[in-house]
Amino acid sequence: MTTSTNVAQIAPGVYRCALPTGFSVGDVYAHLVPDEQGVMVVDAGLGTDESMAALEQGLCDIGCGPDQVHTIVLTHGHADHAGGAAALKDRTGARLIGHPLLLRWLQPTPESMRAEDEFFEQLYRACGLSPLLWEAARVERDSYRQMVRPVSPDGNATEGDIVRGWRVVYTPGHSESHISLWREHDRVMIGGDVCIQHISANALIEPDEECFGRIQSVARFRETFLKLLALKISAILPGHGEPIADPQTLIARRLRDQDARIAQLMAAIGTDECTVWELASTLFPRHLKEITLIVSEVLGHLDFAQTVGQVTSSCDTNGVVRYRLAP
Ligand SMILES: [Zn+2]
Repeated sequence: MTTSTNVAQIAPGVYRCALPTGFSVGDVYAHLVPDEQGVMVVDAGLGTDESMAALEQGLCDIGCGPDQVHTIVLTHGHADHAGGAAALKDRTGARLIGHPLLLRWLQPTPESMRAEDEFFEQLYRACGLSPLLWEAARVERDSYRQMVRPVSPDGNATEGDIVRGWRVVYTPGHSESHISLWREHDRVMIGGDVCIQHISANALIEPDEECFGRIQSVARFRETFLKLLALKISAILPGHGEPIADPQTLIARRLRDQDARIAQLMAAIGTDECTVWELASTLFPRHLKEITLIVSEVLGHLDFAQTVGQVTSSCDTNGVVRYRLAP
């Protein structure tokens, strides 16, 4: 049943619907899963008029009206997946669920935003960024916040819950709020950004719940990858790019990619001692404007290398942290 170009059936009973984002990553896929009671929608897109129109058209193409949507599940809180949750809930009246940590994204308060800004300011200082770059990163953060219209979830979806016949698997790493849905009988997973065929999803740095410290994002991602390998998934239906027909091979490659990144960082440090920003500028000279991405990539992997004893760090009196190879 594919009557328009933006909807396609990609697994038994699962349709993907392409929603425009305007981001460099391209379209994001909402997954539509009809059943006897109506339809579950996994991820809501950005919520722009264009994106909402594409989603409504997608529902129409599988023979459903907006009022037949009974459940909206968000895989994680990023704007391209969760930005449209409020608009979709308004339009459909459906029950909105996701991981409890979604609240940070869906209902930020002035206090939580201030705590987050202070966390990042301290982090960027430690990474050796200039105040000018902290400010650029804050502006970028603010613009993403504004893309997510606040909305109150109706319930939680946590590890082991069953939602419309799909089991919730907690899959942090790309975001601490990330869940995936797994269908036991054919081992298909609706995976959000947990694994993407053509690009490696970043392990983005996030503060912990109290904004005291940072999540060990690369270590979290590794645990998630090992968990996914154990599930022996037959296919992952991701939020971006093509369905992953051989998840075992791709996940094994993502684990090797992490090892390769650590080796690359260690080679770049050599006999020197380096800040995160010096390493980020060396490794990603053409992506210096993507501060969050490249700092996350370097710091996340250094955190992991430090945990396993490959690098050590020291902090100077200005709060700037430098890394060197462990003796
Ligand atoms: Zn994401």
